Amino acid sequence: MAEHVTVCEVGPRDGLQMARTIMATPAKIAWIRTIAAAGVREIEVGSFVPPKLIPQMADTAEVVRATVNLPGVTIVALAPNLRGAMGAYEAGAHRVSIPVSVSEGHSRANLNRSPMEQGEEVGHIIQWVRAQPRRMEVEAACSTAFGCSIDGVVPEAAVLRVAEALAAHQPDTLALADTVGYANPAQVKSLVRATRAAVGKVFTGLHLHDTMGLGLANALAGLEEGIRDFDSALAGLGGCPFAPGASGNIVTEDLVFMLESMGFATGIDLAKLLEARRPLHEGLPAEPMHSQVAKAGIPKTFRAAA
Ligand code: ZN
Repeated sequence: MAEHVTVCEVGPRDGLQMARTIMATPAKIAWIRTIAAAGVREIEVGSFVPPKLIPQMADTAEVVRATVNLPGVTIVALAPNLRGAMGAYEAGAHRVSIPVSVSEGHSRANLNRSPMEQGEEVGHIIQWVRAQPRRMEVEAACSTAFGCSIDGVVPEAAVLRVAEALAAHQPDTLALADTVGYANPAQVKSLVRATRAAVGKVFTGLHLHDTMGLGLANALAGLEEGIRDFDSALAGLGGCPFAPGASGNIVTEDLVFMLESMGFATGIDLAKLLEARRPLHEGLPAEPMHSQVAKAGIPKTFRAAA
């Protein structure tokens, strides 16, 4: 039996927040359904942020409600604060992901709070979520963990300090995010090891961007260090409105190709996944779409993991 790797599609959230135009709600929902039909089992469908800040996310509650009953699919929503987490809960999200920027500059620009203040907010959110009758998972994500477009170098010690503060609140999972895409494979290996040593098994995931063209190399480095949980975006959409210069997430199609070729089962049908590009393009015709696999076609040598 092949070892399983979870791929969480974050295109509808991370990908769309930088899009030049707004994807209409029905188009978004149709797109998410085709992603699920390809076998993707975790989809981050939006974020509960003020629509004035990110108008692309104004319909997140509606999108969650329309997708939360897709069989076998974990619907994730991002929320930067308790109000957002309450919105995610009310809409029925299975998991809420809360970002905590490790770098002071990004944290202030994004949330107008220091990293430690935002860490406290995660504690409040977890307390509130656990007091509710329905279970909702909470993921805490250390953003800008590999470098920051505002502050520059983010010391490993600073990442570990934030990760430890978050782990103390006992989220269900903790992830490291290369929000601006400055990581390199050696750094990924080092930080994955150090974070696991500091917080243990709660640390499960990597969220990577391809700004420097090292996205898949970084994913491979994480894979070799035992990471089995990756975020990626169809067609490599994405960026961060508060992180100048950040480009798209690692490309889901290419990540799935790499993982399956290496013998890691994702449960995702690559040919069907490529078909999910069409509703994305129809919903956002002006948006550039990436993917080497889409460009070249699935080669005859490709065998999905058993
Ligand atoms: Zn991101």
